[in-house]
Parts: sequence; structure tokens; C-alpha cells
Amino acid sequence: MSAKFDISFEKSAEIAGGYAILLQTKGADLAAGASAADPSGVVAKASKIAGFSAKLAGALDLVAPEGSKAERIFVIGLGKAEDLVSFDWLKVGGAAASKIKNTTDVTIFLDAPGADVTATQAADFALGMLLRAYGFDTYKTKKSDDDSNGKDGSTVKVRIVTASAAEAAKAFKVSQAVADGVNLARDLVNEPANVLGPVEFAAKAKELEKLGVDVEILTEKEMQTLGMGAILGVAQGSVRPPRLAIMQWKGGKSGETPIAFVGKGVVFDTGGISIKPAGGMEDMKGDMGGAAAVTGLMHVLAARKAKANVVGIIGLVENMPDGNAQRPGDIVTSMSGQTIEVINTDAEGRLVLCDALWYCNDRFKPKFMIDLATLTGAILVALGNIQAGLFSNDDQLSEQLTAAGLETHERLWRMPMGKEYDKMIDSKFADMKNTGGRHAGSITAAHFMKRFVGDTPWAHLDIAGTAMGSPLDEINQSWGSGYGVRLLDELVRANYES
Ligand code: MN
Ligand code: ZN
Repeated sequence: MSAKFDISFEKSAEIAGGYAILLQTKGADLAAGASAADPSGVVAKASKIAGFSAKLAGALDLVAPEGSKAERIFVIGLGKAEDLVSFDWLKVGGAAASKIKNTTDVTIFLDAPGADVTATQAADFALGMLLRAYGFDTYKTKKSDDDSNGKDGSTVKVRIVTASAAEAAKAFKVSQAVADGVNLARDLVNEPANVLGPVEFAAKAKELEKLGVDVEILTEKEMQTLGMGAILGVAQGSVRPPRLAIMQWKGGKSGETPIAFVGKGVVFDTGGISIKPAGGMEDMKGDMGGAAAVTGLMHVLAARKAKANVVGIIGLVENMPDGNAQRPGDIVTSMSGQTIEVINTDAEGRLVLCDALWYCNDRFKPKFMIDLATLTGAILVALGNIQAGLFSNDDQLSEQLTAAGLETHERLWRMPMGKEYDKMIDSKFADMKNTGGRHAGSITAAHFMKRFVGDTPWAHLDIAGTAMGSPLDEINQSWGSGYGVRLLDELVRANYES
């Protein structure tokens, strides 16, 4: 974590040194409070002379003029007031945070004329700041100047001045929960696999008990007893034993059917005996991005005390080549009783998910199940790093997810499914095989999972392109993006809280 912002909201504030940040909409004057930072009107004049257009998340950097109580002034653009959507407030918050370096005191005047900033928008702005401030420098013994925002890495005191300060402070508690959950997911993805094995990841899930989440960790022995032959087949090539973590947040009415999220947690994926090429293999420490998103989501829901009953299940394994590793051609029996011919040991994510999904459905009979997985390279071919693939047997759930994606800017694109694709994973020797070949690779992967969900509404999110290595932007400068946490929190918030 490189910067630490101590954020408060105030109705009005005196500036006493440090930075002043003023928001401005297109074609309007500077934010209320500008006069304190700019008693002589020089900033307003300079902004005009510089031709600052106040475009969304654009910034103007000024040394404070004579008589100003600030040392440095930034003007951040909001674009046209009437065009602002909720995600824009995160972006603008991120843009503001990116300017904060070498100071410990920042006063932000949010109420730009024409923008009518609500408490939710103010809290979203602050969320954008917290998400932008994240950096993963655990293993850098020398911190670069760029990494430390406060002088000597100390905390930066940020006062956000807005008319709805009291309500904004309340709404900010939710922002803090969301930021912590996203940043937890980012940490998990960024951690190297030698530090974060299945056992260590399970311990991280267990830590959610502090927030009131019930967490059970199944050991290899217990998974054997349950007959989880698919996930155990993946694990058998690693000296590190697998784990299955079951997290329950019971914030809804007691006895109400839960909703469920299932994550792929392959802490490292070498491909197994069907070993991957060396180039870029280090990125496979992120093959647990689905499990990270589910864990981050459970953190958010508990921390903001969501009024919903939610189950989160993550399958944690390492896929290694070894004398004991499974071979192409091996046939394993999943917990469902269905047999699987392993054609390619690198198609291991679905083997992890199938047992986790079956277990989840069998035990909790949830309203729906959504799985998240860095599942296929094919989804990158189709959608790049920009959107995740959505596969589902349920139109309503798909629509809810798509809407949540647009709202949070964690976007999804629904991909087709159908029985012709399903046929592609029929096997000569077993009930199915674990890959249908190169063509339609993301779709046949989804069909594999569909065979384990029965009639339960289900969606599969292929996040191989979005969980890591996606383009950096105003609110994310981290390789592990934390994709999925805000998306699913929004899904729950908009549709499943009593
Ligand atoms: Mn793989
Ligand atoms: Zn994988």
C-alpha cells in the first residue's frame, strides 16, 4: 500500500498549507471555496489563460499565488455536469489522488457549480481516491519517491469539503468497505505463489471471521471423503495440499435461501504435465483471481453489513508437473459421480470449479450460483482485457449482471451457449472430457461447468483478461485489478438485499 489517506468530510474548511484541489465543470466557475485558495482570482484567470477545458478527470497544476493559504493548487475537471454518471466520480477521485505527492495535508473543494454533488457521489469520489492509492510494494526494500505520497510515507490528511458532509461521511463507510475488499483481492492476486499457497490462501479467508463471516476450511482428507475427485486430481501433482474454503455471511433474514459465489483458486498454474511455454508463465500466480474476487466480495458484504445471506466457496490448489501429477488420458470421478477424461492437464480450472459448484448446490441449494475464474486464453482472444465473458443458463441473472457491469464499469459481454457446443465435450471413454479443443474454447469450458449446476440459475464469468494485466486507469494502477468485487457487490446491492 503506497499511500494512506485519512479522509474526512466537512461542510467548510480553512486551508492551512498543503494542497488545495478544486473541482470544475465545463463552462462553469471554480468550485465553491475557491476564494480561500485563490483570494486574488489568479487561479481562475490562469485556468482561462491556460485554456483548461475542465474535461473529465483532466487536471491543471498551479503554484499557489501570493496570499493563498495553500502551497499548491490543482483544478480537476468534471466534464459537462449533465453527462456525469456515477462511475465518473470514482474516476475523478482517482485523478485527484494521483496528484497528491509530497504533502500530508489536502483540502478538496468538491461542490463544483452546476454539479450538485450528492452524498453518494462524494463517497464515490473518495472511493476512487482509495482505489487509486493502492500499490503493491511489499517486496521492494527500497521505496521509490513515486510510491510515497505522504512525506516519509506518512498518512495524508484529506478533507473533502461539501455541503452534504454529514451524509457523505455516512456513505463513506460503505466506500471504505468496498475499497478494502477490492484491495484485498488485489493483494491476493499480486502475492507470489511461493508465499500464497492453498493453505496460506485459506488462512486469509479464515481472517474474515473477524468481520462476522463463518468460515470452514476443508482439508484434503475431507475432500476425499466427499469424493471430490476432479479437484483432487489437479492437486495431486503439488507437494502443497489443496483446500476448499466455505465462507458464509448471514446478513439476511434467518432461513432465507442464500445466493452463492464460487471462485477458481489455482495459486499457480504451470499447466501440469501439459506444461505451458516459459514466456509469461510468471503471470500464472494470478490464476486464483476468481477466488480472490470472491474473498474480496465477502469482505465487502460483511464490512458493510449487507442485508443478504451469501455463500462464498473457493477451491484452492496448485497445478504442478510431478511424478505424481495426473496425466492426459486419466479419468477422474467428480463429486457428482460424473466421470471426466482429462485430455489436457492445463484445463484444470473447470476441474476445480465442477466439484466446488456441485458441493455448493448440493449443500446450500442457493437462489443462484455465480462462478468467477481466470479460465481461458480464448476469452482474451474474443474480448481482450476490456470486458469479461458472461455465460449463463438464466436471462434474468444475465441482465442483472450486465447492468451491474455497466454501473461499476466492470463490464461483461454475454457469450452464446447451446447444445452443439455441449456435444464438443463428449468423451470416447468417460461422461465428458475436460476440453473441446481450440475452437469455441471459452464456450465449451462454460458448458463443462453447466453439467454440474443442475437447474439452479447460474452464471460463469471468465475473467482471464480482466483480473490481471488489464489496462491501468484512473482507479487502478495495480497488475492485479480486483475485478469482480465491485461488480458483484453492486449486483447484490441492486437486487438481493432485503
Ligand atoms: Mn490451466
Ligand atoms: Zn488455470
